[in-house]
Amino acid sequence: MNQHPPISKLKKSLFAIISISIRFVGAFTVPFDFQSRTTPHRQRYTSEQLTAKTICTFDDDDFAGTQGDWPYTAADLNRLDNSDDYVFYDTPRFVTHIDDSAISSLTRFYQQEFTSLNKESLDVLDLCSSWISHLPKDGITYGNVVGVGMNEQELASNEQLTNFYVQDLNKDPLLPQFEDNSFDVICNVVSVDYLTKPLEIFQEMHRILRPGGVSLMSFSNRCFPSKAIAMWLQADDIGRLTIVGSYYHYSAKWTSIEALDLKDMLPTPKRPSAGEIMKNPSLGLAWMNAAAAVAKNNQGDPMFAVKGEHHITTMANTTVVGESAAAHPPKKARTDDVVLPSVDKALNAALAAAMKANPPAPKEVRRVDYTPLPFKVTKVSLDFNIFERRTVVSSVLTVEKNDLATANDSNITNDDEDGLVLNGEEGGVALLALSVDGVDTLTPDDDYILKPGKLIIKAETLHRGASNLDGKMIVRTTVEIVPEDNTQLSGLYNDGTMYCTQCEAEGFRRITYYPDRPDNMATFERVRIEADGNKCPVLLSNGNLVEKGSCDDGREYAIWHDPFPKPSYLFALVAGDLGSIEDTFTTMSGRSVLLRFFSEHKNVGKLNYALESLKRAMQWDEETFGLEYDLDLFNVVAVESFNMGAMENKSLNVFNTSCVLTDPVTSSDAEYFRVEGIIGHEYFHNWTGNRVTCRDWFQLTLKEGLTVYRDQLFSGQVNNCASVTRIQNVLVVRGSQFQEDDGPMSHPIRPDSYIAMDNFYTSTVYRKGAEVIRMYDTILGTDGFRKGMDLYFKRHDGCAVTCDDFLAAMADANGVDLSQFARWYSTSGTPVVTYSSAFDQDSGLYQLTLSQSSRSEDPLFIPVAVGLIDKATGEEVVPTTVLQLKETSQTFEFSNLKGEVVASILRNFSAPVKIVSASGNVDEGDLAFLASCDTDGFNRWDSAQKLYEAAILKVINNVAHDDCLDRVIDTFRQTLKDEKISDDSIRAYALMLPSESTVAKAVDCIDPPAIHNARKHVKSTIARCVKDDLLRAYNDLTAAIDADGTTFNVDGLSVGRRRLRNVYLAYLCSICETGEEQREAADLATKHFNSATGMTDKLAAFNILASMSGEGESARDAAIEKFYNDANGDPLVINKWFSVQADASLPDVLDRVVNLASSHPDFTLKNPNRCRALVLTFAMNAAAFHAEDGRGYKFLGDMLDKLDKVNPIVAARTAASSLIGWKKYNEKRASLMKAQLERLKSMPNVSNDLLEIVTKGLK
Ligand SMILES: [Zn+2]
Repeated sequence: MNQHPPISKLKKSLFAIISISIRFVGAFTVPFDFQSRTTPHRQRYTSEQLTAKTICTFDDDDFAGTQGDWPYTAADLNRLDNSDDYVFYDTPRFVTHIDDSAISSLTRFYQQEFTSLNKESLDVLDLCSSWISHLPKDGITYGNVVGVGMNEQELASNEQLTNFYVQDLNKDPLLPQFEDNSFDVICNVVSVDYLTKPLEIFQEMHRILRPGGVSLMSFSNRCFPSKAIAMWLQADDIGRLTIVGSYYHYSAKWTSIEALDLKDMLPTPKRPSAGEIMKNPSLGLAWMNAAAAVAKNNQGDPMFAVKGEHHITTMANTTVVGESAAAHPPKKARTDDVVLPSVDKALNAALAAAMKANPPAPKEVRRVDYTPLPFKVTKVSLDFNIFERRTVVSSVLTVEKNDLATANDSNITNDDEDGLVLNGEEGGVALLALSVDGVDTLTPDDDYILKPGKLIIKAETLHRGASNLDGKMIVRTTVEIVPEDNTQLSGLYNDGTMYCTQCEAEGFRRITYYPDRPDNMATFERVRIEADGNKCPVLLSNGNLVEKGSCDDGREYAIWHDPFPKPSYLFALVAGDLGSIEDTFTTMSGRSVLLRFFSEHKNVGKLNYALESLKRAMQWDEETFGLEYDLDLFNVVAVESFNMGAMENKSLNVFNTSCVLTDPVTSSDAEYFRVEGIIGHEYFHNWTGNRVTCRDWFQLTLKEGLTVYRDQLFSGQVNNCASVTRIQNVLVVRGSQFQEDDGPMSHPIRPDSYIAMDNFYTSTVYRKGAEVIRMYDTILGTDGFRKGMDLYFKRHDGCAVTCDDFLAAMADANGVDLSQFARWYSTSGTPVVTYSSAFDQDSGLYQLTLSQSSRSEDPLFIPVAVGLIDKATGEEVVPTTVLQLKETSQTFEFSNLKGEVVASILRNFSAPVKIVSASGNVDEGDLAFLASCDTDGFNRWDSAQKLYEAAILKVINNVAHDDCLDRVIDTFRQTLKDEKISDDSIRAYALMLPSESTVAKAVDCIDPPAIHNARKHVKSTIARCVKDDLLRAYNDLTAAIDADGTTFNVDGLSVGRRRLRNVYLAYLCSICETGEEQREAADLATKHFNSATGMTDKLAAFNILASMSGEGESARDAAIEKFYNDANGDPLVINKWFSVQADASLPDVLDRVVNLASSHPDFTLKNPNRCRALVLTFAMNAAAFHAEDGRGYKFLGDMLDKLDKVNPIVAARTAASSLIGWKKYNEKRASLMKAQLERLKSMPNVSNDLLEIVTKGLK
């Protein structure tokens, strides 16, 4: 009989609709065909009675969605009576909900199934159990028979149960009381229709069912309508079978799902023929009786079941973790009894052990090898369960084939990597479970490959599951990490006060397996964080907060959703007991944004300035670039232990406390400005970095150079101090960046290769990168630059792009050809521009010849800003003009000049180059002239610096320097008294001598003690000559400041006064040769120290006092003690205390530093700020560090040896800024420095970070 279409064809269309919305089910009444079950391989229960019949089996393609795509809404699962089920089931009912014939069908079905499991003893779980379980009594041996039900009395009287739990599954769908793989059979009789959280329950069933076990969900057509879920009431029998089938399908990977009719439909006896009845009437009567009996039997309650089979897990040493166990670890379970496989049985445990025993050689990553990912993750859902010393991270990744990865441009040499490549550090991330499209029976090497740092899921494995699902695959992982052991502070770590992440550049792979590269932009749809509510009441991640609440046992959870696709390096999580302040900002389109700043409770009072800075930054970016913030919430968290200054994670910026906390008593003016600049920087990244990000890490300068430039503009404009800001920025470029260019780490702003990306967060990428962006602005002008920015966002918003894309946007928006300018991205080293000039008095023609040399084969495009000043009048006769130097050598002509001029070249430092006279000699007269007359604030300062440097160099080289010193003193005195200088900060900078490291760059072989002494000599010589003027100026300023009262301000005027007064103080105290002078200096500095109204003055005086010797010793020791006591444990102040001592100019400074490092209770290598304060500061104290006996080097080697094991990133950075510059020193120093590098290189288990630096350093 087959008058209807076969079920297999029909059900497809039907179930597809059902899975979209079950509400349509009622519209279909689908007749179905009974088919005999064909399971010949099974030992079957033999009975003469008819047995259960297969209606159909469900396949994956019967459903529209895939596992994990739960299709049902709250409305589908709603009930008429939503009152507490305990009330409903409070009184025992002791009723059966189906008739006897249905019960006997069920029991017979059980007998068949149980027998075919072919086990000596069965452990059974009866869900929604009551006083009777209908289990067959004969021929089956039971182990544990456990009931979970609503009524204690009923359960207690169920004779078949060995154990029971009273539990409302609708309230509490998890079954943490059962370990994984606890049962052979899970059954449920006529209750599936009442489950309102079927997903969780079915997931749990899959978890606790043993491989090879079965789940049998049976039901009839009766129910309590008020308690059944809405879609059940609207469905017919087939619809109900489908609902239950879909529960299996969407919850976990069941090996088979089968719908069964259990009812023994007895066939109607064959009617005797009329002839036979005529012959034998009793035959007719017998037939009538038999037929009536069959009819009666067949009329009773129908009985159906949907069976789920859970077949063998073949993964060696792995227990499959049920989805729910991972997503919501058992509420009652704690660290020790969370049901997860142990870490030593993790899938990647063997690899982790092998890597530890035998670390692979570090591999260089090259820019030219970039290939798009063959598969990318488009959606992510993450679950963090934070326990003490154990955090379980589950991820659900939606994976798609990457359209960008065409067969053509894919030059993958390794066949293994044509699948989904997930990065993960096996040493820190223990992989506990893995499934692809619900298949957890994956075999290593066949289905996936574990390699150092990588988990590769083969393309075949992915394609297997993707047959009918728009090419989307679901990959799930569960890993365990220990943030408490993470001293590298990369990934998720706990510093004793809170849990915090740092993912840039490659920290996310220390959290979970993921395509941890910036070109994989995915939507982080759901990030759930759960932790102990007492320790971590604040749970933060990116985007918007969706839900927040309490679990049992004092645990809290929060769920976050970030609508903007982002790479993994922008992910952030913070969990801790934090205080906060908040405010709102209304954007230019009128949206209100909530701004919240978090810190440890004790620091909450120090967050206000940063919050105000953020509001200024938001407004500035709207006004300057038209860029508006895009979410309703912006969070900032201050963290004590942090490798970087701050991190721009989408809407959850994390800051090193030193870059966000301010307080007049503990913060200097410089720190206030730094906080404002860094707050701006991280905020600006929301567009330049987050909305448009880097395709690969070689493009880091795309986001960093641009954002540094933006924060420099912001700081200068918002404080109306562009020249001062420019001087400060150039000091850094000429200091650390030029030094980098001179050493073995020299690289272009877009490097070509790296071993550890963390080593390329360099001054070159950031600072020179910002200079390159500034050159676009200089060349194109403010409007042209803005046009380019607008086009850049228009083209690339939401994308991961390259430096070439930025250049193209700038060129296209302005219709100019910038191809020559592109060479800046690939040229390392500092270009040199030489100048020479000629003036023809008769024609009034001035010719300026500029020539360039650099490591670029072809000439660079260098914008050189020039102004001309009349030598006789000091008037500017040609205002700033940008000359475009594009050839190796070019001559620029200025005509109609009335008299001789002095050129002010490279105004405002218009390009990151060294500018030198073609003759090789600096004209000290011209320098002195510009130092007093130049209209360009920057060049005026710069000319004075060059003049001072010339004097110091002459002292070092022991050549006649009296004339030069006279000129220096004249210039100094003139600057001191110049009434045209209205900004005290400008005057202060103009009076400061170049630093020792600046002078060091001007010599071929650095002799640090000689530089130190020469500079000191020039300083004290100046001071002695103008002492009276200095003292008068110092006292005038003191009086002016005192007159202002005690209110502490950080405005330009107040800051300038303090800066200038501290410069005077330093000059005055540099006169300290005789005992009397020492006493005088100590008294002045001590008075300054004790009367300081803020940290700026106090620190300036402390710096001077810390270097005092002779008669000043007691003042020094008193200051060291007082500064420490006044700090009152404030870590940022204690850092300054360490740093000032490490920087002191004293003969025994190394002994002091060694003492502090080895025995001061406040010193620790674990805190990067503290470590930098003492160790790095000492390494920067050139005269002491480079003492010729090599003890300074040995001390640093000792510290790096220890530090590398704690925090390789900080160790590598410290080495990069000290030992690797050995070539610039004499042979003795060089060989001692090299010896320490060799020692570090040969350390067992040296980190990749440090190894890369020392290896390059030795070349
Ligand atoms: Zn940045």
